[in-house]
Amino acid sequence: MATHFSPPVFDGHNDALTRDGAPDLTRQLDDGHLDLPRMREGGMRGGIFAVFTPSPEKRPGQVKFARGVHAEPLAPPISQEKAAAHASAAAERLLELERAGELIVAREISDVDIAETDSGPPVSVLHLEGAEAIDPDLEALSEWYAKGLRSLGPVWSRANDFATGVQFAFPSSPDIGPGLTDRGEALVRACAELGVLVDLSHLNEAGFWDVARMEPGPLVASHSGAHALCAASRNLTDAQLDAIGDSGGLVGIVFATVFLRPDFADDPDTPLALIAEHARYVADRIGVEHVALGSDFDGATVPAELGDVAGLPKLLEALRDVGFNEEELAAICWHNWRRVLAVWWR
Ligand code: ZN
Repeated sequence: MATHFSPPVFDGHNDALTRDGAPDLTRQLDDGHLDLPRMREGGMRGGIFAVFTPSPEKRPGQVKFARGVHAEPLAPPISQEKAAAHASAAAERLLELERAGELIVAREISDVDIAETDSGPPVSVLHLEGAEAIDPDLEALSEWYAKGLRSLGPVWSRANDFATGVQFAFPSSPDIGPGLTDRGEALVRACAELGVLVDLSHLNEAGFWDVARMEPGPLVASHSGAHALCAASRNLTDAQLDAIGDSGGLVGIVFATVFLRPDFADDPDTPLALIAEHARYVADRIGVEHVALGSDFDGATVPAELGDVAGLPKLLEALRDVGFNEEELAAICWHNWRRVLAVWWR
């Protein structure tokens, strides 16, 4: 059996910063999916670290799905004041890791490039998953940018001043609810001007097309799957995939079993190969240059076969098994994310 050089991995979405109890990520933890020692073991040299503020009755990392066919009501909104305090504390945990020399918070594309080739600390991108921490007049946006914010999803799966997130429904079209508000359009424009990537993963379909029409940059869904393989509302229809391809964007293929399996089961007993099948589908439809990874580590149930971030080499094998060559693997694992980040940040 041939042994392969494993390319470095840039992962498009994790929720480790907002885990319950805010554990010390510099130590190898007994549970959860991601910490710095396990990142090293798995070859993850970069990633987008989300700051997610839960709705009152849902705690981070504890979004529990019912089994199989069902729809959940949209989560209740949260106030800007609560979100800002929670999100600032979570972002501060990332900045503390940077001050301790444990990782770099990317502010320009050269920070990503250094992490790809250097054996120094890995690179992280600070991401807001839902823009509730930003005031409707967007004054907080430049403060967040100064702190290091370089990626933002206008919504999580709930409504806010900017847009409406897609509710979790299995099966369902993503076409549920209204699109961007005027303030949402202003937010997308401001992000494009500042150089903050706009992430479409939790937007409903109307919001997706509103952003697409604005042409703010390459369209990016950081942690989603293909609707044709798993008809969950959070996944991307073929038409959405085509628009992502046409814009030069990408899909970070999610590892969450509810968005991979045709039966939507929230079940670790799910073949790792399903992640590779979603990647293969998107590559066959719009090209491998639009396929990347977006695990949702510490935010969802992932296949037990993968386990956690240390299991990434097994995923690379599964990607080889569906026919990706080493050059394509390097694009999926790093260079596609690098390309779209560079365009948004320029
Ligand atoms: Zn998410």
